[in-house]
Amino acid sequence: MPSKGSSRNRLPLKAASPRKPPPRKSTASRSSAARTRPTPWWLTDGDEECPACGQSYIYELEFHCPECDAVTCLHCRRQRADGRLVCVSCAQAQSTREVSHGR
Ligand SMILES: [Zn+2]
Ligand SMILES: [Zn+2]
Repeated sequence: MPSKGSSRNRLPLKAASPRKPPPRKSTASRSSAARTRPTPWWLTDGDEECPACGQSYIYELEFHCPECDAVTCLHCRRQRADGRLVCVSCAQAQSTREVSHGR
């Protein structure tokens, strides 16, 4: 047997599938695809309201800004030039602060 970790780089695209997919039955079985969800679950089930954008989001998907301790949703998270993730207001404050060199 060859070593285990050697061939784990990429999945071979043309690998022979171990199982052939079952032949499609021509009987048009229209499954009841009643998936009418206008908004994803992480926006609908949210109890918290983001102060930045006003969207409701789930508590578990919140983003805690390390700069100002503000809690926003993941959509209002911004990445600064140094790679740090902050909230929108902090990202804007940082950018304006860099422009106008105070002190
Ligand atoms: Zn938000
Ligand atoms: Zn912040």
